Amino acid sequence: MDYKASDHIQDLQYFGEFGGVNPSISDSSTYTFLSAKTMFDTFEGNTEGCYLYSRHSSPSNLYLGEAMAQLEGTEAANVYASGMGAISSVILQLCGSGDHIVCSRTIYGGTYAFLKNFLKKFNITTSFVDSTDLGAVENAIGTKTKMIYCESISNPLLEVADLAGLSKMAHGRGIPLVVDNTFAPLTINAAKLGADIVVHSLTKFINGTSDCVAGAVCGSTAFCLGLKDVNQGAGMLLGSTLDSLRAASILKNMRTLHIRMKKHSENALYLARQFQTDGLRVMYPGLEEHPGHALMLEQMNPEYGFGGLLTLDVGSLERANALMESMQRSKLGYLAVSLGFYKTLFSAPGTSTSSEIPLGEQEALGLGPGLIRFSIGLDNDVHKTYSAMKSCMAPLGLL
Ligand code: PLP
Repeated sequence: MDYKASDHIQDLQYFGEFGGVNPSISDSSTYTFLSAKTMFDTFEGNTEGCYLYSRHSSPSNLYLGEAMAQLEGTEAANVYASGMGAISSVILQLCGSGDHIVCSRTIYGGTYAFLKNFLKKFNITTSFVDSTDLGAVENAIGTKTKMIYCESISNPLLEVADLAGLSKMAHGRGIPLVVDNTFAPLTINAAKLGADIVVHSLTKFINGTSDCVAGAVCGSTAFCLGLKDVNQGAGMLLGSTLDSLRAASILKNMRTLHIRMKKHSENALYLARQFQTDGLRVMYPGLEEHPGHALMLEQMNPEYGFGGLLTLDVGSLERANALMESMQRSKLGYLAVSLGFYKTLFSAPGTSTSSEIPLGEQEALGLGPGLIRFSIGLDNDVHKTYSAMKSCMAPLGLL
């Protein structure tokens, strides 16, 4: 993979109004026009470079959108007030009543609930399939299918999607492949592997400071402009608009994403290897035993490693809760959902971020009640972290 996304992000230079090294923040909801005709043309979508109203676009949001387009190597990108704002806009832009979606069965619980429950109101149905089985995906596609949807590395089971295989199949059937690349920014270039639309929750690694919620859609210029269309655009009309102040702060944080991703991955690989040697039930795409490891090697940008997430199955919810509380008391991290923070975050997805998935389905997926998802932090001394983790595990009989 030779696309150097981090260099492209670093090369984007925007100067502030007074020559500042950061761009000025657009502190306005609305914009003046020198002529009424230009205002009309802008409403019609014909005046490039003119701003109309900040729900439509704003300079700060466009800057962040450009950085996101560089990250994925797409023509364009729009930013949203949350990852779910981005995901729901894409899905409602592409699907109408009677349409159908083929989706991976292991995905973030909020996306699952949106597809399975919320879209019923619009008579849009979803088949959830094992997306690591290309035959199962192919069989689920019907005449009404409008997209294949998956996560590059799935939440929470860390399944690795065969993006080249899925995109070939989607294109053969004349439908787009939509990929949520939240778990693997820089590590996986989903668009370069054939995804037509890439969505991100910027809330996670890309922002990296757990201080806001935001999202992005990366795709063709036509699709991104379509989302902003004043008459038909799901982004414009559903109104999940990111505030300019936040867009500006996320762009600043994004400048260090490459350094953070390397450290998250380095620490996660070290801990995964140690846990494996200890005989624990650890899953990490960087371990040779992981079912998606070979695929990961084919698809990844090795510079950034295998990502910052790993899971540990400690057998029961009671043990998981006891371990998480003990690790939090030992200052090893926080018992909290979300990911991509400097501090390690851990939660039991079965009772938190994937609780939208019914218990029977969780079992079928292999999502046991004792599964803990770790977003490994940027600890400077991960050897010390490991020793402290072991001290929390030993009293619970895990080691
Ligand atoms: N996609 C994935 C993989 C996620 O983990 C999440 C949130 O946890 C989302 C999307 C939703 O993002 P947000 O919380 O920013 O709406």
